[in-house]
Amino acid sequence: MAEESNSRVSTPEEAVARIAYLASDVIVSVQPSLASDSEFSGHLKRFAGRKDASLVAKSHNAVPEILSVRHNNDPLLSVFGPIRSGRLVSVTTTSSTLLPSIAHLYTLANLPVVLHVALSPRNSPDYSAITSIRNSGWTFLQSQSLQEAQDIALTAHALAIRSGKGVIHFFDPASASRSAPIASEDPAVVREILNLDSVRRFQSAPVSGSTIYADDGRVAVVADQPERLTGRANGAPSTEVEVASLNGTSHLSSKSSQISGTSSPSSVSAATTIEPAAPVITSEDIYKYATSVWATLKELTGRQYSAFEWSGSAKAENAIFVFGADGALFTEAIATAQSGEAFAGAGVITARLYRPWLGAKLIDAIPKSVKKVAVLEQVLRKTTKWGPLLIDVLTSVKSGPGGIETIVGNQLGYVTRTSVRQILKALFENLVSEKPVQNLEVGEREQPQQAPEYGLEKPKLETAYTKILNQLFGSRAYVANSLDADNAGVSNTISATPEYGFGALLARKERRQKFVGEVKEAASSGRFLTDTPKRALAKWMANADDVKKAEEAAGNVVSTLNIDNTRLSRGLLENKQFFRKQSLWLVGSDAWAYDLGNSGVHHVLASGENVNMLIIDSTPYSERAAADANRRKKDIGLYAMNFGNAYVASTAVYSSYTQVLQAMDEADKFNGPSIVLAYLPYFGEHESPLTVLQETKQAVDIGYWPLYRWNPENETKGKPNFSLDSEHIKKELKEFLDRDNKLTQMMRKEPAYGAVLSEDFGTEIRAQQKRKAKDAYNQLLEGLFGAPLTILFASDNGNAQSVAKRLGTRGRARGLKTTVMAMEDYPVEDLPTEENIVFVTSTAGQGEFPQNGLSFWHAIKDSTELDLASVNFSVMALGDSHYWPRKEDKIYYNKPGKDLDRVLSNFGAKRLADVGLGDDQDPDGYQTGYNEWEPKLWEALGVANVEGLPDEPPPITNEDIKIASNYLRGTIVEGLNDTSTLAISAADQQLTKFHGTYMQDDRDIRDERKAQGLEPAYSFMIRCRLPGGVSTPKQWIQMDDISNELGNETMKLTTRQTFQFHGVVKSKLKPAMQAINRALMTTIAACGDVNRNVMCSPLPSQSKYHREVYACSQKISDHLLPSTTAYHEIWLTDDNDKKTLIAGDAVQDFEPLYGPTYLPRKFKISIGIPPHNDVDVYAHDIGLIAIKGEDGRLAGFNLLAGGGMGATHNNKKTYPQVGRMLGFVKTADVHIACEKVMLVQRDFGDRKNRKHARLKYTIDDLGVDVFRSKVEDYWGQKFEAPKPFHFDSNIDLFGWTKDETGLNHFTCFIENGRIEDTPEFQMKTGLREIAKVLKGEFRLSPNQHLLISNVADEDLPAIKTLMAKYKLDNIQFSGLRLSSSACVAFPTCGLAMAESERYLPVLITKLESALEENGLRQDSIVMRMTGCPNGCARPWLAEVAFVGKAYGAYNMYLGGGYHGQRLNKLYRASIKEEEILAIMKPMLKRYALEREEGEHFGDWTIRAGIIKATTEGRDFHEGVAEEESDEE
Ligand code: SF4
Repeated sequence: MAEESNSRVSTPEEAVARIAYLASDVIVSVQPSLASDSEFSGHLKRFAGRKDASLVAKSHNAVPEILSVRHNNDPLLSVFGPIRSGRLVSVTTTSSTLLPSIAHLYTLANLPVVLHVALSPRNSPDYSAITSIRNSGWTFLQSQSLQEAQDIALTAHALAIRSGKGVIHFFDPASASRSAPIASEDPAVVREILNLDSVRRFQSAPVSGSTIYADDGRVAVVADQPERLTGRANGAPSTEVEVASLNGTSHLSSKSSQISGTSSPSSVSAATTIEPAAPVITSEDIYKYATSVWATLKELTGRQYSAFEWSGSAKAENAIFVFGADGALFTEAIATAQSGEAFAGAGVITARLYRPWLGAKLIDAIPKSVKKVAVLEQVLRKTTKWGPLLIDVLTSVKSGPGGIETIVGNQLGYVTRTSVRQILKALFENLVSEKPVQNLEVGEREQPQQAPEYGLEKPKLETAYTKILNQLFGSRAYVANSLDADNAGVSNTISATPEYGFGALLARKERRQKFVGEVKEAASSGRFLTDTPKRALAKWMANADDVKKAEEAAGNVVSTLNIDNTRLSRGLLENKQFFRKQSLWLVGSDAWAYDLGNSGVHHVLASGENVNMLIIDSTPYSERAAADANRRKKDIGLYAMNFGNAYVASTAVYSSYTQVLQAMDEADKFNGPSIVLAYLPYFGEHESPLTVLQETKQAVDIGYWPLYRWNPENETKGKPNFSLDSEHIKKELKEFLDRDNKLTQMMRKEPAYGAVLSEDFGTEIRAQQKRKAKDAYNQLLEGLFGAPLTILFASDNGNAQSVAKRLGTRGRARGLKTTVMAMEDYPVEDLPTEENIVFVTSTAGQGEFPQNGLSFWHAIKDSTELDLASVNFSVMALGDSHYWPRKEDKIYYNKPGKDLDRVLSNFGAKRLADVGLGDDQDPDGYQTGYNEWEPKLWEALGVANVEGLPDEPPPITNEDIKIASNYLRGTIVEGLNDTSTLAISAADQQLTKFHGTYMQDDRDIRDERKAQGLEPAYSFMIRCRLPGGVSTPKQWIQMDDISNELGNETMKLTTRQTFQFHGVVKSKLKPAMQAINRALMTTIAACGDVNRNVMCSPLPSQSKYHREVYACSQKISDHLLPSTTAYHEIWLTDDNDKKTLIAGDAVQDFEPLYGPTYLPRKFKISIGIPPHNDVDVYAHDIGLIAIKGEDGRLAGFNLLAGGGMGATHNNKKTYPQVGRMLGFVKTADVHIACEKVMLVQRDFGDRKNRKHARLKYTIDDLGVDVFRSKVEDYWGQKFEAPKPFHFDSNIDLFGWTKDETGLNHFTCFIENGRIEDTPEFQMKTGLREIAKVLKGEFRLSPNQHLLISNVADEDLPAIKTLMAKYKLDNIQFSGLRLSSSACVAFPTCGLAMAESERYLPVLITKLESALEENGLRQDSIVMRMTGCPNGCARPWLAEVAFVGKAYGAYNMYLGGGYHGQRLNKLYRASIKEEEILAIMKPMLKRYALEREEGEHFGDWTIRAGIIKATTEGRDFHEGVAEEESDEE
């Protein structure tokens, strides 16, 4: 903090924080919540933020660690780990944490911890927080002014270091704040006073001990300390020690010296100390150290301190001893007293060193003239007759020759400048009276109103669970300790405790019992007007304990009582809430988990009462390891299960919403105590739900937070008690279940769990695996001759890996002993023993290593020990020189490879060949650079001219896979039956696409699983085939069931109007496929190189016309379906179905349209109905524009061909394209025309290069006219001239529409098509409820929204009620949001480079203020986002689009046509959120100001010269706003 040395410090907390920061390795910062700072923590974070160094750090310039801990989260627990590992720890806190930490205080007293304690409540602090812990064995120092806070804080650290004992420095923050600002500390003084030799001595010798619950036997002994005490060098008792005192030199007799903290267990501990011979630190030692610190301080600063301080006349006869906030006010009043005033000429005594209590020093400090002393103790709630300070003074004075005659104890209240003289007057009048009254209360009892010190805060996200409680139980839910509840004056701190809540719940139960009694009495009293209430009440009473029946009867009871309206009825109605059986809940935090026996958890369990506890655990998974071992919580779930009589569930709302519902419902029904543990990782108020989601997923997936339910009542029903709702469980739980034999039962029931449950996780295992793999390889190579060559790769898209493997094969052909493996699998310690080693690495993110190279890179980059003098190496780097368009980012090009080359060379390794640079921009991509590099490598290894090299087999292509698959069978069946992995083979992954399913893995947990040595969390996406996107209500329910039972509880409505399921694990794939087929849908050809789902505009306004067009979409879809029977055979036959065909059987399929190799690439058809281009007809291989005849019926279609979205970043040979017009076809011929277009593509499409295989390239290569004529040749007919048509938008029209037949349609806004339930929005449940009553149909819109269609007028009220109940009628969103669309991307899409579906809504929220400001809230601007340039959400046709480039970075495109007629163009590359906002906000403002009447945003960006118009795909890369530069 040198740069601040001239600055001023204005609060005691800042002064203390600065000293603590300089004098600690670790600061435990106790805070009201992690999101809100304490008076100290803001300063601490500021210092750490600018990387100020700690003065005591072992390494130069190291920044102390700041551990933020919630005040109610057992903060002192965090001290044990670091202090025992030899790190100096201080704690900044208010006094409210002291008493609850008393057990820790005893254990920590003999370690050099410093606690800086701001006394609370602010303005009228309660010193009982200090007096109550005075005998815990700590040294206590007090400061009263700002300057003292600085000096005494420093003293505290110096004293702790010197004495090896804990020091508590306490102060009243409010009165110290009244001082004028002071200069900040002088680092030279701090350094001098701290004594760095002592610091190093402590830091170099970690302290043994592990327990926190019992004394670990440690005591501070003199031998540990650097400053030996006079006369005690051999451990002999001291006789006399020379000490300095304020009053001059005096003698301290050994008699008055007490062992520091004699009342603490340290005297007991002394018996077990490791060095029994060394004398323990005594109070006399503490005094010696303190005075020596103060002597140095005086020397350096001129300020002086002593154990007790006297102010006032040296001849005073009366004095006050103040132990309270306002010593300075008293001193000032006495100093300015008029001679007649009772307190004139008196003195004031204060304790600087409160513990150890040095009675003799007190006597020394008080002038001999003093005869009467009034002791003032600021203790708000008095628990003993005599104040602790009074007793201290009495013992000291009576035992010494002080000559003091009278000592009077007083309880000090709140003192102000105006009341102080009055108080003094009363005090002294009492003191000098003949019979002074003891325990006089002085000062005001009423304290000023103030904000609670550390209020309890409920994190916003936590409300998720309480919302679910309300959702499930409605007004039946009663949360006893809710922070929002009014608890009749009971403070939040108390009302939030389990004990309070439990008591409240019991009272509530009793109250209801009483109410039942009252009802009984009323029912028999006959004081109602009629007999009706009696009957209703009797019925109710019979069911009072049955939740459902009581609920049903309650409605009737209440209405009859209302009608009766007698006094008796009115009396009962006053408590009408008791007619319902309430669901009683106690909500708590994981802070209750530290001491289960004492917490309410135990009481609830032991009581056997029917109450429910919801306990929210908020420790983030990623921070679990950071918490020290002592902080390990006890497992409440295990504790409760062991108890035997409780229902227990472990849930996580961000992992499985339905499981939370189920658990809470079961807990409510369980007749006894229930504990629902709920996971909600919490970092701070501003953390995004996405981070919480990712943390939760990791915790659940790895088994850190398993999801399960334990219901002891199940046993009686013959069902297992335990149900596991997630995949992995942690060791302790497994042991419990094993012991209880429950695991065996469950595994018998769910054999699939067997494999995973018996797995153990851990990085050591992973390390062993690495070693094993390498050893096995070495063994394999033993028998081979030739030089060894190790090839390591780091790859993120597979290129580096295949280059490395091919290099390995070629090396082997040349007689080398080659080993190929990922860098992360290589044991780094073997590196110096390598002879020849080659690295192949691609470039990720901002010039970073790909994930599987990171750990290797981190291990070597900062190594100081590697000696590679005998190693030969070379590096081949793969990258893209255009990836980062800005000049300053060019350094990222091939950075990992270049860095590796440099570092290896620095370690003395010799280059076999210079680093090879493969560049995607070269004519042959990275191969160009590679082809130059590889020969040099062989040359250097002496194997360049080897004769007779075998031919290399050509790489297997998709075409090979298709041909070899026997009409899409491959080895899919075998793969499905292989339970050793959740994956299927690479070739089958290509083939299953034709069956409508992709293998994916959950990318949120990919890295964590890798670190744990697990295979990725493979699961499958299933896409249905749903021509025109029309689903019956029954089908909707069936789809909803599939998502709940077999998928991840959500459904995606896609941009191609169909259902998509995610997270279907392999074992559930076949059941899911069968369920889809049972719903009369299919998945065949929903993906793959075939014609996929045929889209059709949902057109709510013209039902008859829609029917006609929709029928065409079905017809085309059916006509172009593949014929293979493999689909039926693989998915729809039962395991023991004899008819099952096996791959390779003699039976052969025949594909009349497709042939055995199907199409070169995917093929998409959509039908638009003017004026709505919601299906984006220009974006598909075939776009059909429905043309209405003069009779109002469908006449036929204009056929566009060759639209397509997919492209590759920076590859100018790829581009999006709009469909070109081939002409008009009649309705009856349309399916044939489509077929012929498809067949020309089948025969002329590029099967060599998949990046050039789409129809758009075939047409561009042939020319539109040639292509058209080929189609006409195949068809034998000619296209007619296109008919006129007009489109005006490609967005959905939300809200209600009535069609020409009188039926109603509502378009709901479903953000990005994700159907899911959240605590805030139960959309999925709502749609299911609607499906149950809907007589019409659902239509999925091409913009991923949903139409509730064909609702008759008479059914409208019921549908509207449900829509309102579930908020599905809400379409009050900004025009931008309503016109937005995003693809899935993370976490399931394997191609995603950036977030899309989970991020676009967030981005729009950030733009909405700019829309508001500029009056654009209602304006429709088509904005789309995709996670990669594959373009699933058709971004290239949007007015503004963001396409993922790297995680968090997007390419921005502008200038698309509003109704999907024009492609956009690159405006900026690789920009992050900040830049996106910085560009968009002013641009929206300009648009608002400059646009012409009706001018759309995309058109305006072109007119305003911001972007050039793209006329068709081939000029997509021309004239982009940001030219990429070739310069390096
Ligand atoms: S656009 Fe890319 S990231 Fe998005 S879903 Fe399609 S393939 Fe995945």
